[in-house]
Amino acid sequence: METILGAGSALLFILAALYFQGVLINISTTLYLHRAMTHRAVDFNWVIQFFMRFVIWLWNGILVKGWTGVHIVHHAHTDLPGDPHSPHQHGVICAPDLVGHLPITWWEKIMLRVLKVCPYGFGITIKNYAYYLKAARLPKIIEQGRAPRDWLERYWFSRARYLGPFVLLPLSQVALAWCLFGPWGILLGLLLWALLLLWTVLSGGIVNGLGHSADERDAQTRDYSRNLPYWLNWIVIGEQNHHDHHRYSGHWWFGQHDFGANIIKLCLKLKLAKVKVMPT
Ligand SMILES: [Zn+2]
Ligand SMILES: [Zn+2]
Repeated sequence: METILGAGSALLFILAALYFQGVLINISTTLYLHRAMTHRAVDFNWVIQFFMRFVIWLWNGILVKGWTGVHIVHHAHTDLPGDPHSPHQHGVICAPDLVGHLPITWWEKIMLRVLKVCPYGFGITIKNYAYYLKAARLPKIIEQGRAPRDWLERYWFSRARYLGPFVLLPLSQVALAWCLFGPWGILLGLLLWALLLLWTVLSGGIVNGLGHSADERDAQTRDYSRNLPYWLNWIVIGEQNHHDHHRYSGHWWFGQHDFGANIIKLCLKLKLAKVKVMPT
């Protein structure tokens, strides 16, 4: 009985800690990296900015100039040659007009031709993040990015970028789980750490992969972007409105069901943020 209760509370702990921290990561990504730094649609007070920069450093170790560079290039060449992570350009989508013309790997061929299964879900989410990582290392992409030019960026966030996600993050998760569950906490903490890394990979894949999985090019945006189900707002904090975002890319408001916009509105009320344009 005790073991069952222990296993139940461990599962509850993993799910709650994963969701709370995962949402914190995605709030910082959409508000700071995406809306503030890349599109310059909102400007946060320095305390809020510092908090989000710290979250991105500790949980992801993302280089701000690399992330913004990839996203600026993505908007400039959306679903065209040169788009760093378009599923249509990289052959992980099964749009009828593209299948057969794209370089797909042997296991994708088996899934597609023998098992008649589109390598959609796996390819589009996991592989999409790999495309991002590859592009974010290229000097020609990084030089197009934007990042604060302060000492925090120079000597802390970009210099010690692996210290957060690969040293402090696993240590903090293990310490937290150890306090609650004793020595078994080491395993739980390491599992939680792995799930947090996977959360980042899947969140990026959902937005940039599934968010560009429309079968046909849209007449207005001329890309394959699409809006995803509204409940994904609970995970990607407004980024599920990906087609709306491509239509009005300079806007801080991403459409209906956008928790990110709600947070910005709250910051505006508290005079902790400024925006360029208001929603129409
Ligand atoms: Zn996009
Ligand atoms: Zn954007």
